[in-house]
Amino acid sequence: MFENLTDKLERSLKLLKGEGKITEINVAETLKDIRKSLLDADVNYKIAKSFTNTVKEKALGQNVLGSIKPGELMVKIVHDELSNLMGSNASELNLSNKLSIILISGLQGSGKTTFCSKLAKMLKDKKNKNPLLVADDIYRPAAIDQLKILGKQIDVTVYSELNNKSSIQIAQSAIKQAKQDKNDVVIIDTAGRLAVDQRMMEEIASIKKAINPDEILFVVDSMTGQDAVNTAKEFNNRLDFSGIVLTKLDGDTRGGAALSIRAVVNKPIKFVSRGEKMESIDIFHPKRMADRILG
Ligand code: GDP
Repeated sequence: MFENLTDKLERSLKLLKGEGKITEINVAETLKDIRKSLLDADVNYKIAKSFTNTVKEKALGQNVLGSIKPGELMVKIVHDELSNLMGSNASELNLSNKLSIILISGLQGSGKTTFCSKLAKMLKDKKNKNPLLVADDIYRPAAIDQLKILGKQIDVTVYSELNNKSSIQIAQSAIKQAKQDKNDVVIIDTAGRLAVDQRMMEEIASIKKAINPDEILFVVDSMTGQDAVNTAKEFNNRLDFSGIVLTKLDGDTRGGAALSIRAVVNKPIKFVSRGEKMESIDIFHPKRMADRILG
């Protein structure tokens, strides 16, 4: 679908060979290709621009007389810079407490409920944890049912209170129950709206204040491209979240949203989700994402 960036750069950098050094003039075309490639991958325009400027600074004056081809050298610079920007290592969850509390935020449809269950399953299977899932959406009974169905599938208890209209109380009671039942992780699924809405923001900010979570994860649909950046900004301003979950990477997006969001809110991407199955969850690896964005 997209031309491989390495091939593209090899093409535009052929002229470089024999010139010895990368200069402002002979790199201009290449930088254009890099920017185009990032825009194709749905990276935000401003971020693509500042990214190519950084690459340019790093590339200028580089000696290309050695054995490495100029195109490969540029791809390496671009690749390293992309990985750096997205965090050079996979970022772990903070699960240091006897009972770790994880609050899940995001817009409706972003994949929150699905992610909550996947995370519970992953922590149970791979970290030997005993999680409690909490359905804390007081507006949509269907969301509670959905979490209950998923909880049953993965054999994890789901806490809910159908008649309680206080999401703060539900979260607090769930934590109390988790302590009694000797759970070591509580994962709280919250209500989402179709667009950023002040009431929803106030509600989740009050839940945060009342329960002081160890992690607040912001779930975002990678297919939403540019919108994802604005949504992430709004949620981060309000919640100061601790990590990002990028969902629906099984779609045909190149995942430029990952780069844009990371650059704008400067928070680590912790997980990616690539499908509806309970097993389709991975820890985020910046290098793999850089490969995907570069095509
Ligand atoms: P919520 O409203 O934020 O809780 O979102 P849901 O968890 O209900 O997910 C919304 C829709 O997206 C559902 O149909 C999910 O099955 C689907 N979904 C969630 N995560 C993924 C994913 O990684 N890939 C795909 N293809 N679909 C997903």
